[in-house]
Amino acid sequence: MTNIILFGPPGAGKGTQAAFLKDKYNLVHISTGDVFRFNIKNKTELGTLAKGYIDQGQLVPDEITIDMLSNELDNNPDANGFIFDGFPRTEAQAEALGHLMDDKDSQIDAMVALEVDDEVLVKRLLERGKTSGRADDADESIIRNRIKVYYGETAILKNYYQKQDKYYGVDGEGSIEEITERLSKVIDKIS
Ligand code: AMP
Repeated sequence: MTNIILFGPPGAGKGTQAAFLKDKYNLVHISTGDVFRFNIKNKTELGTLAKGYIDQGQLVPDEITIDMLSNELDNNPDANGFIFDGFPRTEAQAEALGHLMDDKDSQIDAMVALEVDDEVLVKRLLERGKTSGRADDADESIIRNRIKVYYGETAILKNYYQKQDKYYGVDGEGSIEEITERLSKVIDKIS
């Protein structure tokens, strides 16, 4: 199995790039944000639990998020590997992911991070908000809160995977194709 964490702040382009990479490398793409939004749309219990946090740009609590991720893994028993997009976002989530991979006799092979300037992120998200229909993309103060939460709670995971020699930073500015090319170089090297 090849298991990759696609990392970076909100608006870095993780979802866009995962859509290309999953086909190229035959991996299952799990976006925790997408799973939450699907549940919100379908008014499930999980959706109801998560909605308040997401609309404010806060993280959904670890226990809820980890349970959900574990279910997503169970739903894909025959996967060749995974691209994790938007997970893990805390050290507790990273630890849990390690255990879930152990249970599959597998491991995380790499954290590949898209590095993008903050003001570029804000611009991209405001632009996306014109069509995404996402409440958390519609308001600049919520966008800035999501970026703040990223630096306050999530960015430390760079260190976590660097210590395991699994961190690869990639320039996340440029054309979509250029960035896919940069990411592919890293994935080709590790898989
Ligand atoms: P995203 O689509 O990755 O930008 O995520 C949108 C929102 O979903 C985030 O701002 C959080 O509220 C929530 N979310 C997604 N993934 C996670 C996670 N791993 N841990 C906690 N909250 C998450």
